[in-house]
Amino acid sequence: MNRLFVALALPDHVRAALSRLRRGFPGARWVAEENFHLTLRFIGEVDNRAMDDIAERLDRVREPGFDLELDGFGCFETKGKVRALWARVLASEELLHLQRKIDTALDSAGVARETRKFRPHVTLARFKDAPLDGVNELICEASPFSAGPFPIGSFTLYRSFLHRDGPIYRPEVVYPLDGDAFSDPYFDEFRDEEDHDFTDSTAISSH
Ligand code: ATP
Ligand code: MG
Repeated sequence: MNRLFVALALPDHVRAALSRLRRGFPGARWVAEENFHLTLRFIGEVDNRAMDDIAERLDRVREPGFDLELDGFGCFETKGKVRALWARVLASEELLHLQRKIDTALDSAGVARETRKFRPHVTLARFKDAPLDGVNELICEASPFSAGPFPIGSFTLYRSFLHRDGPIYRPEVVYPLDGDAFSDPYFDEFRDEEDHDFTDSTAISSH
């Protein structure tokens, strides 16, 4: 089975800036620098045939590139216990539009709908029941924080491999957004990797 999600990759300099926010905090699992991303839609476990179908439907999404900006922090919390700390994404119309198009494409592939409202964020750390007061202190120490605007020229179908030491996310297909896609540094970077043939954007590696 393939554990999949659709996300925006972030530029190196933004991931480096996010990485500098790391602080000592009991029980925190900080996201590795190479793993920072903005999830557009979590898909979950699917077989190879469903993955091919998903990749093909995503390939039909035609949306323009846009700029993204990060500003400040937030956390997911229930009853005073924090599960995740994240950097806030300023939600532009273009981002929301792209996310809706991806939702529709995945609906048509039979992927179960996410019931929660889309809240664009970049997860920085996950916790097992951290107290809200403590995380608020951490946020104060790390503030102020902002990054961007920086250009987004593609979205990515990732495959996630869960390991005890943390997940590995492997880009399976990079989909250029309309506009200046071929000058998009991330797209070029992925195209240059030996393991991936992105000249055919529906190609899925089988290993
Ligand atoms: P770990 O599960 O080991 O903490 P992770 O959450 O980063 O690592 P995945 O569980 O494979 O790795 O998730 C990949 C991405 O999808 C992450 O951005 C995660 O927040 C998001 N995600 C995972 N599960 C769900 C879910 N049920 N609903 C929405 N988003 C999810
Ligand atoms: Mg997870």
